[in-house]
Parts: sequence; structure tokens; C-alpha cells
Amino acid sequence: MSVDRILKGLSRFQKTVYPKHRDLFQKLALGQRPEALFITCADSRIDPCMLTQTKPGDLFISRVIGNIVPPYPDAIGGVSATIEYAVGVLGVADVIVCGHTDCGVMKGVMNPEPLEPLTSVSAWLNYAQPARQAVLQEKAPHEERHDSPEFLLALTERNVVEQLANLRTHPSVIARLEQGDLRLHGWLYDLGEGVVTAYDPEKEAFVRVESPKPKLRAARRP
Ligand SMILES: [Zn+2]
Repeated sequence: MSVDRILKGLSRFQKTVYPKHRDLFQKLALGQRPEALFITCADSRIDPCMLTQTKPGDLFISRVIGNIVPPYPDAIGGVSATIEYAVGVLGVADVIVCGHTDCGVMKGVMNPEPLEPLTSVSAWLNYAQPARQAVLQEKAPHEERHDSPEFLLALTERNVVEQLANLRTHPSVIARLEQGDLRLHGWLYDLGEGVVTAYDPEKEAFVRVESPKPKLRAARRP
């Protein structure tokens, strides 16, 4: 894909998409009140707004390879500042950490040696090594191969759980959790199937996300 295709898309947005949603964009130009902070991998195959069918203004999005959240106060920078702003200033009600299948970063965590010349990537991937160690100990202490699809899936899930734990070390998150008005969610998006599973702390497992049940209307009296 050349930049020409991107420019054509921009032109189509301005000519046909923007006019249809002019009211929304003009309202958003005055400010934002996003409902959730969505932390996901930078992978090009993830489109958070398409996945959740949300509109501009709904999600505050942090995209970073491996959907990694360094524990506070490590690596103070883009991710920690985005969390602090979303949680402490914008007051989002929910934070979603979303990993995904076929994540190249998770494959790199399983097999880090080829990435060693990439010093920034290697340093960043170290934040996912506790997840790898946990999976090695729990699931595969006796297996010889640690690069099976099952191991990759277990690592990808565990990485989401570890990053949720890291999220809980950030002062802005701690403060809101103490107030009781912030919810944390761990998701795994299956790219090929369009399925999302979410971490259930009671079951200590990822379970399929179902849409909220519609509220039953009270029966009318005869
Ligand atoms: Zn990824």
C-alpha cells in the first residue's frame, strides 16, 4: 500500500464520511468524555473501534507493542502518562488491556535471541518475561518445546493478566480503585475468529465475552 491509498482514503473521509457525522465531530471539537481507556498492541490487525463498534470520542486508546504496561515507577513515559491522564484527569470508568492471537511480540518473548540487536524492543519485551516464566512453571515444566501454539496462547493470556497487575501499581489507578469507581478488564482478541475472551479472576481463566443481557421490561398490567 502506498501513501496514495491513504490520501485517497482521507479525501473520501472528507467528502462523504465527515458530512454524515458532522454533528458528532463538531460536538467532539469542544471536548471529550471517553468511557474507557483501551490499552492494546500496536499490531495493524487490531481496530479497537471496529471491534467494539464505538465512535470517535468513546475510547481513549494507548497502543504499544505487546500491550505492555510497565509497573510504576518503571519506564515513566508514554504509557504511564496516558494511564495517568485517562484515569486521573478524564476519569474513565473502565480500563481494558487487550492482547491478541498471533502476536509477534509474544513470539519474540518466547524466542528473544534474534531480537537482541534491537535494544529498545528487547528492553521493552523484558516486561513480558514474568508472564513467560509463570507459564513455564505452571503449564510446561516438563515439556521440551516451549514454542507450541498452546504455549503461545497461554503466554498471551498470562501477559494480559500480568499487565493488569502492573496497572494496579500506578498511583492514579490505585486512587480510583480505592474510590471504587474504576473497573479493570483483561481481554484476548482472536483475530481470525472475531472472538473476545475476558479474564475471570474467580475462575482464573479467560471466558468468552457475552453481550450484556437486555433489561426485561416490567410486564404491563392488564
Ligand atoms: Zn501484538
